[in-house]
Parts: sequence; C-alpha cells; structure tokens
Amino acid sequence: MHISNLTRISHSLIFILCVGILGACNQENKPRTSEGQQMTQEDQELNGVDRYTYARPHDAVITHLDLDIKVNFVNKKITGKASFQINNKTGVDKIFFDTKHIDIERVTIGTEEEKTEFALVGFREFLGRKLEISILPSTEVVNIYYSTRPEAMALQWLSPQQTVEKNYPFLYTQSEPTYARSWIPTQDSPGIRFTYNARVEVPKELMAVMSASNPQEKNADGIYEFEMKQPIPGYLIALAVGDFSFKSTGPRSGVYAEASVVDAAAQEFGELEEMIDAVEKLYGPYRWERYDLIVLPPSFPFGGMENPRLTFATPTIIAGDRSLVSVVAHELSHSWSGNLVTSATWNDFWINEGFTVYLERRIMEELYGASYTRMLRLIGYQDLEGTIELMGETSMDTHLKLQLDGRDPDEALTDIAYEKGALFLQVVEEAVGRERWDEYLKNYFDKFAFQSMSTEKFLDHMRETLMNGDADLAKQINIDAWVYGPGLPDNCPVVKSERFELIDEAVSKWVAGENAEALGAKEWYTHEWLHFLRHLPNEISTERMAELDQSFNLSNSQNSEIIAAWFIHVINNNYEVVYDKLEAFLVKVGRRKFLAPLYKELAKTEANKKIGIAIYKKARTNYHQISTVTIDGILGWEDARYLMQE
Ligand SMILES: [Zn+2]
Repeated sequence: MHISNLTRISHSLIFILCVGILGACNQENKPRTSEGQQMTQEDQELNGVDRYTYARPHDAVITHLDLDIKVNFVNKKITGKASFQINNKTGVDKIFFDTKHIDIERVTIGTEEEKTEFALVGFREFLGRKLEISILPSTEVVNIYYSTRPEAMALQWLSPQQTVEKNYPFLYTQSEPTYARSWIPTQDSPGIRFTYNARVEVPKELMAVMSASNPQEKNADGIYEFEMKQPIPGYLIALAVGDFSFKSTGPRSGVYAEASVVDAAAQEFGELEEMIDAVEKLYGPYRWERYDLIVLPPSFPFGGMENPRLTFATPTIIAGDRSLVSVVAHELSHSWSGNLVTSATWNDFWINEGFTVYLERRIMEELYGASYTRMLRLIGYQDLEGTIELMGETSMDTHLKLQLDGRDPDEALTDIAYEKGALFLQVVEEAVGRERWDEYLKNYFDKFAFQSMSTEKFLDHMRETLMNGDADLAKQINIDAWVYGPGLPDNCPVVKSERFELIDEAVSKWVAGENAEALGAKEWYTHEWLHFLRHLPNEISTERMAELDQSFNLSNSQNSEIIAAWFIHVINNNYEVVYDKLEAFLVKVGRRKFLAPLYKELAKTEANKKIGIAIYKKARTNYHQISTVTIDGILGWEDARYLMQE
C-alpha cells in the first residue's frame, strides 16, 4: 500500500494517524482475547508463525478458490459459495478458516457436496471467529455457503451520491492486512497462497473487476468471470463494482475509471508502459501479464493498493501534470516486492514495503533522474524522522522486524517499514555497489517468486549469497542494528537535495520580507512546493497568508498534496476566508493521509474544533471505515456528537 507522503500511497498515512491515536494503540499492546483474557501459550502457538490467522497450514491448507458470489447493493450483502481445493497434508479431521462478521449457511465437502459438521468458534480482536470444518483425510474440496454483513470491514458500499457521476452505487474491497476474511471465509495469512477463479453477479448496469484477468467492457447480463492463475495471499484478493469504463494506455496496461475521469486518468498514467519496462530491465520479468489501474471514487482511504494485475488508486493522485505518479511506481513495484515475494507475517511487513519504496525510487530515478529522486528521498527521510520522534528513539516499534503479537496489524503500517526499510537497502547497495546489488535483487525475485519471505530467511540468503561470509562487509552494513535495533543507526546515509536547498533559501527570503512573486516559484515541481510549504513558519499574518494565496492561487490548487499542505497553514493561522474551500476538500476527499493531519490541526483550538466537527458531520458518510476510525479518535466523535445534540 502507499502511506506517507507524496510518494507512498496507501497506507502511509497511518503514522500520522498514530499521532492521534497512539494512546489508544498502546492500550492494545498485550495479547488478549475478546473476553479480555490474556492469550495462552497454546493460543499463541496456534499456527506456528502468523499470529493473525486461525489456519494451521502445516496440517491442512487451501490451494485454490472457486468463488461464486452475488453482489446485492440493496441490503449491502455479498452472498454465495467459496469452494476451496485443499491439501490435507497430515490427514487431520478438521480444517480451520478465518471469518469476521460473516454468516455461514452450510458447509459441504467434495465435489459431491456431502454434508459436514462446522462451527464458528470464539471471537478474538483482529482475528474474528474461527471456522472449524470437519473433513476426512481424503478430502480435497470444501464448499462454504455464506453471506457478508453490512459492517464487513473490507467492503465499502457507496451510494450514487458518493461517486463522481452520481448515477449508480459503487462497491470496492480493501483486504490488506486482515480484512479479506470479512468478505470471504478463507485462510487469511500473508504466508498462505492460492490461485482463484470467480464468477460474480452484479446489477446489469454495473461492471465488476478483480485482482485477476479482467473484462474491458460491460456485458448485458451482469455476470463476470475471472481467473487469477498466479498464487496470491488472501490480502491481495480484491473486487470493485461500479459504473466505470476502460481506456488503454499501452499493449499491456490501461485504466478503469468513471466516465468523466477516465480520459484524465489515462493521460496522467500515460507512462505505465515505461515504468513496467524500467523495472523489468532492473529486476526481471513482470509475471502478471497485464498491469491495469482502477481509479476509485474519492472516498478510497489510501493512495493506492497493490492488488495484483489491478492497482486500486485514489483520484487524488491525478494532478494534471503527472507530478504524483510515484504512487503508481510504488504500486507497480509491489508486483515484484510484496506480491511476488511476500512478507511471511505482518511482523515482516518491511519485506513488502521497504523493498517497494526502494524499487519505487529506482523507477523514478530511471524516468526522472537522480536530482528529482533525491527530493523524494529527502521528503521520505523527513517523514521518517517525524515518526521516530513520535514513537520515541528507543521504541521497539521502530525496529524493522516488528513484534506486533496481539496488537492491531494495521499498526505495522508506519513509515518505519517503508522509509527505514528503504534506507537499509540503500546502505547495502552503497556497501556492495549498485551493479552487484541489482544482480542480487534480480536473482532474489526470481528464486523466491510466489513464495513468502521472513526477515530471517532474507538476511540468511543475503549473507550467504551477496556477502559470501565477508565479515568486514557485514560489520560495515551493521545488519542487526538496522533490523533488530531502534531508530536510525550511525551509518544511515545522509540524504541531501540541492533543489531543496534552493527552496530553503526562498523560504528565508520570504520570511525576511521578500515578495512571494519574486521567489521564482513558477518553475517549482510539486515536491519543491511541498518543501516550501512544510518549511514556512507556523505563524503567518493574515496579510501574508493573503499574499501567498493571491500570488500562487493555493486555495484553488488542483494538486491534492499542495492544497492539503497549504490548508495546514490556513487552519493554524485561522485564515477563515478560505474555510469554505477547506470544507469542500474535506467533504469530497476520503484519503486518510490528508484527513488525519487536517482534522488534527482543526482539533488544536476550541473554535476550530467546533468547525471541524461540523464539517465531519457532513463528510463522515463519505469516508471509508478505515478513515472514520481514525478521525473519530482525533475529534472524540462520540462525545462531539453528544455535544452537538445539545
Ligand atoms: Zn506499499
């Protein structure tokens, strides 16, 4: 996913989120059952490695899914049948699946569909309920008839009003990290892979696409069939249903979007083919056949989600000038790091994201050059410094290898995995030389394709294959300090950008009284704008706010990153003449990366908090649950609602 600043999409946001809810996060630190009891040793050893699944893949594991479902917008339910091919490795008499807020109607085994016993057992926070199914040593197929509930975390049901065109409803899923189990009963672990076929029935006016082979136009009967031939983990299964169309951007790429967005999207992402070529040249073949992208309605809580063959993306990366496409480079890179070689558990999340940020920057360097990429690196580095300061320099949550057991796996999704992970790989690159490192990575993606990767397995392989037992090299890189230690080790690369140094000069000049018009800003790229806005003083007079806005038309910027950074100053300096534009932005956009800092800024004074709550009251139904959980916390929504009724 993409999280933090400009570059990262989806998930990056979370750290900001944690700024607001860190206290709440910390209360969840100890492994507990939903009844509040501490997990027993047996509980914790349930599945050997991944503590966020009930599955016991060493005994009986799924290998293929045939999904046959119907999407019902009236009652906000998916109903149907999930048939799994299984491998009963040790001849056990029970197989275990993960479910959350799913109703199971019946379960059968075999292609003959013989009845069998099943039970939904317990409920544990972040895991949901265990589905136990009786099987025979010879069982090869398990059929689960089920329906979802409206509160399913993975499913966002949008009313026509919440789409761009406002004619038809829209549905999309977000399965990472552990939400697949809320729309399909499955063995939901990053370490368990399966292929899938699906038949999906939707209202006739709508089209369905998945993380699989996809249709390029609507058909008359509303029935769509899909095939995913490459084995993927559950968090990469995805579905979107709505009134959208397709536009090609090259022989193996294209975009899906609502009618009035699709041309702009195809234009914005016109470099998809070049990006694919750039990664292939460095790290070997793209193994998923097509690479398409769907632009979702603005409520999508992340920048992007790397669903295989079909990245889900926020419309907020369409800036009109391709200045925010590093998010696409990020999601595309996941086709190697993450989707191809996958974190074994959420504690190894940096194996997905650290590698992906590293690859993303290499693509950007290929396409836009080193000077441009240094800006991306420095913005990432500054975000990382902020995260470490927030978490505390000695916090174990700043280790690359995490210890999340019993906590919300969403907590893994901080800048640490992304930025510290990428910095570590940069240290290795600089120690061994780029040529040798690239060769190593290419072989790594090839050797471990479609497999899961733990931190330890990667380090062992790197020590053996790349470092050949060279003790001096190992010492120079200081692996343990990077992976199992807090904060940033002493050999952290110095990140510098000569272009940002010029912006620093511009900030100083403006602070000293220079006219905004005289700063030469017409030539600035988005990242230079961001650096400028982020480094302005906190306190700015109304007069000078007006000068900035009139000179650069910031309050009307079509660039979501720039306008969001500007609004921080707007709120902080009570520049109320553009509060209507702030409101329009917050009501329209649901990307948590923008929402969390803005609502946080609003919550800093009583007067602004009141305004923030009034805006949130209008906007909340437009946001995904993933975002509302965060903003509820920032605004104290339960209390706020009570106050507003008075
Ligand atoms: Zn990512």
